Amino acid sequence: MTKWGFIIDISKCNACYCCFIACKDEYWDNDYPPYTAAQPRHGQSWMNIIRNERGKHPYVKVSYMPEPCMHCEDAPCIKAAKDGAVYKRPDGIVVIDPRKAVGQEQLVKSCPYGAIFWNGEKSLPQKCTFCVHRLEVGEIPRCVQACPTECIHFGDLDDPGSDVSKLLKSAKAEVLHPEWNTRPLVYYLDLHKMTRYFIAGAVVFGDTDECAEGVTATLTTNGSSTKTSTNNYGDFEFDGLDDGMYRLKLECTGYAPKTININLKTNSYLGDITLAKT
Ligand code: SF4
Ligand code: SF4
Ligand code: SF4
Repeated sequence: MTKWGFIIDISKCNACYCCFIACKDEYWDNDYPPYTAAQPRHGQSWMNIIRNERGKHPYVKVSYMPEPCMHCEDAPCIKAAKDGAVYKRPDGIVVIDPRKAVGQEQLVKSCPYGAIFWNGEKSLPQKCTFCVHRLEVGEIPRCVQACPTECIHFGDLDDPGSDVSKLLKSAKAEVLHPEWNTRPLVYYLDLHKMTRYFIAGAVVFGDTDECAEGVTATLTTNGSSTKTSTNNYGDFEFDGLDDGMYRLKLECTGYAPKTININLKTNSYLGDITLAKT
């Protein structure tokens, strides 16, 4: 069986909005019965670009997450629909029937991802269709076609030879909010850029006031450690961290090691850390 899915690489998204515009161009003023009525010109983002800013001056990191309908395997919108107005196809695509769903505004709130939009003029809930009308004629979704950075991978998750299946095996793909148990068919690479924290800093040699390159930074929490080295600006960073207690140790031959305890509650930039000559 075919099971369509997305794998979206957050590191590659630069918020150019080509996917959003392509989706709008495909659906604005165009009906695709029986899958969807036309998307209104304003007010709906079937491919929503979410911006996440982490850290604060002088250390700020910005990431973008394209967020369409997740085409959940266990979809709350299907449970909330009356008269079978939302259904899942055997290929995984969740469809809002544009005839049966008229007046069913409760569907908007039923989606925990905020993927359903209300069309007031037509009294109709609407969302991403995975471009099912294009798939049926052998074409890929418009947003995938339009993305200049190849951030959005689309294919058959049940085909072991497909790009998406290979990516799922080779890289760390995660779904958004797995705790909701909706079992999305949209996966993300580098999701930690939206959901987790970093610890970073800059190390300086106290005797020369120079950037300290090649210092070993070891971060320990709950008995497990990860290591990195400072770059030629003396900078180091650990990313993808959950909140909790951490111990950071900085070591360099000829300098006294330094240990810093961190109670991580949000992204943490430690600023300049000076190592004293022994
Ligand atoms: S993301 Fe929302 S609209 Fe899409 S299938 Fe899941 S619950 Fe339904
Ligand atoms: S798959 Fe199609 S409907 Fe869904 S966001 Fe992309 S272009 Fe829009
Ligand atoms: S087209 Fe690609 S890079 Fe541009 S916003 Fe969409 S996903 Fe991101």
